[in-house]
Amino acid sequence: MLSRRKFLGVVAASVALPSASLRGQQSNEWGSPVFDLHFHMRPQPPANLAHLDGAGIARANLLTRATAAEQVAAVQSAAPGRFTWFASADVAQPDSVQALTQAVKNGARGFGEMKFHSATDGPEFQRAYALAAELGVPILIHFQEVDHTENEGKWSPGFATKFESMLKAYPKTIFIGHADAFWANMSADYHNESAYPSGPIARGGVTDRLLANYPNLYGDLSANSGNNMLSRDPDFTADFLRRHQNKLMFGSDCGCADGHGAGIGQANNPAASRLAGKCVARETLTVLKRSATPDVFRKITWDNVHMLLKLPA
Ligand SMILES: [Zn+2]
Ligand SMILES: [Zn+2]
Repeated sequence: MLSRRKFLGVVAASVALPSASLRGQQSNEWGSPVFDLHFHMRPQPPANLAHLDGAGIARANLLTRATAAEQVAAVQSAAPGRFTWFASADVAQPDSVQALTQAVKNGARGFGEMKFHSATDGPEFQRAYALAAELGVPILIHFQEVDHTENEGKWSPGFATKFESMLKAYPKTIFIGHADAFWANMSADYHNESAYPSGPIARGGVTDRLLANYPNLYGDLSANSGNNMLSRDPDFTADFLRRHQNKLMFGSDCGCADGHGAGIGQANNPAASRLAGKCVARETLTVLKRSATPDVFRKITWDNVHMLLKLPA
């Protein structure tokens, strides 16, 4: 619950700075307005806005639990027009079907972030894929095979070998891929050696091929994983963004406080230390800006997500 004092503070802040002028100001920073597809909701509404405003981001998609509709409404009412949301629930629990369905009825525009240990082609995830198609919403999945910390375990294991069969089996499900295994498999020579491989990308990797061949697969460029892939091989990056300009979406997955890197140590993820002290949103927007034409940049940071989530731009 918001305290009355905090609630009034939020209202005063949004009155003081009308959203239209705010958006104008923000679109100047990156050349066009930016939508962050991958933003984990913070408990206090002002903390959500602090990141958006600090990083020059106009709108964001809150990732949260399926039961969070009320908290989402509080964040949305503090900044009308700036937040959509995705809901997640553990696919291994049969009642996740009911929870996700209810969340969509409550306004969630997708499932996510779906980060669970169930196999990507197992019955639990398949139940969620079928439900996403039935409800007409996309499903955003965290794929990870290499532990960040000891005994972490794999998340949606089987991406490189099994996920293609799911794209085929659920052609009406819109999948959004994210995280280590999704982006590391951009390189054809990758075999789970590390979470964040470095060096030039060997052309013809699994992810590149799946994005090219399956109209129901999209890519979420958030987190160290997305930033790492974009930063490895500048020649590849420019060509990759051009080829998949209608399938890629900017996201941050940033945990910093102010949109400038404050309070981010990547302590839970030592392999991502190259982004310690930096705002992941800013770092990734910078590499996108330098690697894409203005038209392609705008598609990846704004147009594609509005189309996919059926949002008015
Ligand atoms: Zn994730
Ligand atoms: Zn940040």
